[in-house]
Amino acid sequence: MGSEAIHDELDERAADTADRVVAWRRHLHRHPELSNREENTARLVADQLRALGLDEVRTGIAGHGVVGVLRGAGPDGGRVVALRADMDALPVRDLCGADFASEAVDADYPGGPFPVSHACGHDCHTAMLMGAATVLAGVRERLPGTVLFVFQPAEEGPPVAEEGGARAMVEAGAFAGPVPTMAFGMHVTPYPKGYVGYRIGNQYGASTLVRVVVTGKQVHGSTPWEGVDPMPAAGAVLTGIGQLYRQVSAFDPVTVTIGHVEDVGRFNIIGQTVTLWGTVRCAVESDMAEVQRRLTTLAEHSAAAYGATASVEYLQSVPPVHNSGPWVEAGLPTLRRVVGDERVVETGATLGYDDVSEFIGRFGGLYVMLGVQDATLDASGRPVPVEGGRGLVTNHNPHFYADDDTLVTGVRLHAHVAYDHLAGALVARREG
Ligand SMILES: [Zn+2]
Ligand SMILES: [Zn+2]
Repeated sequence: MGSEAIHDELDERAADTADRVVAWRRHLHRHPELSNREENTARLVADQLRALGLDEVRTGIAGHGVVGVLRGAGPDGGRVVALRADMDALPVRDLCGADFASEAVDADYPGGPFPVSHACGHDCHTAMLMGAATVLAGVRERLPGTVLFVFQPAEEGPPVAEEGGARAMVEAGAFAGPVPTMAFGMHVTPYPKGYVGYRIGNQYGASTLVRVVVTGKQVHGSTPWEGVDPMPAAGAVLTGIGQLYRQVSAFDPVTVTIGHVEDVGRFNIIGQTVTLWGTVRCAVESDMAEVQRRLTTLAEHSAAAYGATASVEYLQSVPPVHNSGPWVEAGLPTLRRVVGDERVVETGATLGYDDVSEFIGRFGGLYVMLGVQDATLDASGRPVPVEGGRGLVTNHNPHFYADDDTLVTGVRLHAHVAYDHLAGALVARREG
């Protein structure tokens, strides 16, 4: 069978999975689970992979991680492609408006209770990869290599007291054998439906979680002079963070966002501590150390100006998602075949993160964005809403939505990338 025939067959089989993929996606959307709590999601995935008769289904990897192994007909020592989907949801209310919107609440999660929703679209990722497993299992005797279906927990970051995520999967031996010769990941994004965006270089930035604890001296709210109020010190840190951007070249953007403040005080108690939780993002990894140094200096000295102290910790560091030139060059024909030349577009870098970088950085590979919203591209290539559509809504927003009609495109992307890599057509010719 020629490669054209098998590509057609992959498409036909992908189309056949549409109803199931949509049903899985809706089920997962309705039953989201937070990072490191993906128990039922992982069970659904593992049951499906077993039903497909994969050679091996490894479960419980770094928490609830699942790896399905599908050995094709090629000789041992052939290529190995790792297709990755993340499974976790977010502590965000679901206002997406679909009739399968989530009403889930996780009452026991650290810091909770939290409403839980798939505001990052990982329900789509999981369903698409289950669809791809179905497609590729159907042509296993014609696969000249091995496919690893990697269902990853805790992409959004585990609770700070826990380990988890992509690096933890590597450390748990998920890829000990066979070792991937390529990793592939994608993310649903506010981009025109069915468009595939890629960037040579860092597609996503380097990320680290930051915790700043500002410590004062607890006292009655009526006598602030008897203690040390950590609140204005925390305010000064927050305000000062707004100037950090200007200390780093604007041509390689950074952001420092404090998204959560914890205060142990009360309306009539000046608390002992205020804790700021945030994230530091750098488009270029080498800026991270400098931004951290400046942020630490800022926090410590701002707090000191108010008679308080500050301690700063950096946790859960994730390297940038890097697409090398040779891998992109090798992958473009595949991407164009799947969605059409005109829908494969170069995108800008973003300061999002995705810890699939732990896989792509180790094994080589490719990462793309998949558009899932009512949008079009303007003359400068930026996504803009289409009239009568639901608008552009970013990931992590309670209104984030992803339309079902792009799910099969995701299934096809996985299947075509996997086949082409195993067949030797999608391989970086000179590694960059
Ligand atoms: Zn996310
Ligand atoms: Zn995500």
